[in-house]
Amino acid sequence: MPQATCPVCEAELHLSKAEALFGRRITCPECGSLLEVVEEDPLELEEVFDFEEELDEDEY
Ligand SMILES: [Zn+2]
Repeated sequence: MPQATCPVCEAELHLSKAEALFGRRITCPECGSLLEVVEEDPLELEEVFDFEEELDEDEY
């Protein structure tokens, strides 16, 4: 089972194979952070700040 470390709280996370794919987003069960798979081998996660994507520049 793929394992990764949460970059926020450093908890050891066990991902399913479907989750351990590049670009997949998961939520850390320990700290609730939104994480994205940025590297598949070795498995590496990075925190995602989703609100930044929602705040698209206002053209008006
Ligand atoms: Zn965490």
